[in-house]
Amino acid sequence: MIVLACDLGGTRIKVGVVRDGRVLAQTVEEARSNLGLARQLPMLKSAWMRLLERLQLRMGECSGVSMAFPSLVDAANARVLAEYGKYADAMELDLREWARVELGLPLVLENDARMALVGEWRAGAGRGSNDLVMITLGTGLGTCAVIEGRLLRGRHGQAGILGGHSTLNIDGGNCRCGNVGCAENEASTAMLRRRAESLPGWARSALAQAPVLDYAQVFAYASVGDTCAVALRDHSLRVWSALAVNLVHAYDPEALIIGGGIMASGEVILPVVSEYIRQHASTPWGSVRVVASTLGDQAALVAGDWLLQEQFPHLRL
Ligand SMILES: [Zn+2]
Repeated sequence: MIVLACDLGGTRIKVGVVRDGRVLAQTVEEARSNLGLARQLPMLKSAWMRLLERLQLRMGECSGVSMAFPSLVDAANARVLAEYGKYADAMELDLREWARVELGLPLVLENDARMALVGEWRAGAGRGSNDLVMITLGTGLGTCAVIEGRLLRGRHGQAGILGGHSTLNIDGGNCRCGNVGCAENEASTAMLRRRAESLPGWARSALAQAPVLDYAQVFAYASVGDTCAVALRDHSLRVWSALAVNLVHAYDPEALIIGGGIMASGEVILPVVSEYIRQHASTPWGSVRVVASTLGDQAALVAGDWLLQEQFPHLRL
């Protein structure tokens, strides 16, 4: 099955042509999410046309379109339910109708973290297991779960994907979601600068002079003993580890997959989270495997064929 896939991020849109869980060709476009989604749709169509031409494939050989969206969605009806400041017009769009008219193809829409887990489950680090949770460490913190071979969605499409907004610090700051002390508010790239600037001694930290403040810098400066970088690293590792225990307790997985851009420092993160789970999670049956994503930022792209078959079972393979 050949699928036209895209992963709509806040700053980048990944566009790909996928066959049987493998990306045949892909490109990355600037998101300009502040302009809305309707204005990006012609760009998506032309990007897919170019990729198909490069692969010497025709639109008629494709089975469908998959779209990963960074917010709450109604997957059954392919509608965006909330936009939280990204692609503000998305809730008004009938994307399924757009794909039918413009591409002649059925479309599936799903939350991006959920799609990333489906990708890992079918073709990546989660293959062979039907009980998985995933944490995506990045600008925000994405989570989701597969339980007994079923992708967890819930009555309103929210189940499993709000782990980043579980309370990790009852005395913490107000999060953009309305809750207080969320995991994402405590330790994510979006909140890194605010947290760093509140640390005593920040002005004297070498990290304060770094041209970019991200977790790659935090881990690099922490490894040479910069006090603020060590504080940021250690606090973040504790938050992500505690979040992992919460997810293990909530969803009873065999394995926890960790992905996202921050996992460029996975050699530091994985053993810490794994050991924290071993010490603090209640799992009398054994131990949860903690593994890195193997598909990286292609995970959400490769999930389309599974979702298309789930929602349109008559589709040809
Ligand atoms: Zn929150």
